[in-house]
Amino acid sequence: MNITFLGTAAAPSMPIPFCVCEVCSEARRVGGKNLRRRSSLVINDDLLVDIGPDIAAASFQQQISLAGIGICLQTHPHADHLDIGFLLSRHTEYGTEVSGDLLLAGSDETLRVIDDFVSKQSAYGSIFDSETQSALKLKLLSLTPFEAYSIDGYHITGFPASHGNDQGFLLYSIVQGDHAVFYGTDTSVLSEEVWEHLQQERTMFDVVILDHTYGIGFESRPADHLASKDVAAHTDRFRECGLLKDNGLVYATHLSHEGNLVHDELDEYARNFGYRVAYDGLSLKLDD
Ligand SMILES: [Zn+2]
Ligand SMILES: [Zn+2]
Ligand SMILES: [Zn+2]
Repeated sequence: MNITFLGTAAAPSMPIPFCVCEVCSEARRVGGKNLRRRSSLVINDDLLVDIGPDIAAASFQQQISLAGIGICLQTHPHADHLDIGFLLSRHTEYGTEVSGDLLLAGSDETLRVIDDFVSKQSAYGSIFDSETQSALKLKLLSLTPFEAYSIDGYHITGFPASHGNDQGFLLYSIVQGDHAVFYGTDTSVLSEEVWEHLQQERTMFDVVILDHTYGIGFESRPADHLASKDVAAHTDRFRECGLLKDNGLVYATHLSHEGNLVHDELDEYARNFGYRVAYDGLSLKLDD
């Protein structure tokens, strides 16, 4: 299994274009790993997590083709994770030649919000209609939280996020063969219900990816996002509960500027708490 971070920023990108704070100014000055696009992840060359606004630009820069993507797991419909223009560009009217159907999977609530956006922003009709689906080469899969689905060799389970007042925001466990990754953004502190299910499933993860919107000295905000100290606490808990392999790694993603140092310094800080900080283009190869 190969895991590549297309983007690792929170909604406003990092640095925030109009911000002159120390963190953003330093990020602009140093560049490199400090320039972050909106969060999205590619697994192997066929599974995308979140069809976000920066996926095209990131794929060009990182020289990763998205043409073979057959599955898109959507965490939720916030604008930093969803650009329906990429779905619409699959329409026959664009003359697009796609390699096959795209299975768009997410909670029922998320799929309905996407349908609402498509109806308002195009004349292509509802994505729940078979005619629209065939024109977009799109298939839909509504995921029930805590239920495991087998899709093209992946075993996928959605877990409810603590994020926003709307329902249906999902975090994902993605298992292929002997390898497993947990994608945990956007979310605040994981609920006890989620921990219980993780422990029941007993999947041992190679890689756990967690929301790290807020950095050092900040608090996680309920129903919003995680801050570094809870990423550290979650890292400990994944390890203590036997949910992380001995050589398993925890990576922070979805970074904003509050309390987040420049990448190398933040990564050094994170190492002291048992986790690492992801950056755009970071590719993890899990060997068999
Ligand atoms: Zn977000
Ligand atoms: Zn700033
Ligand atoms: Zn969000």
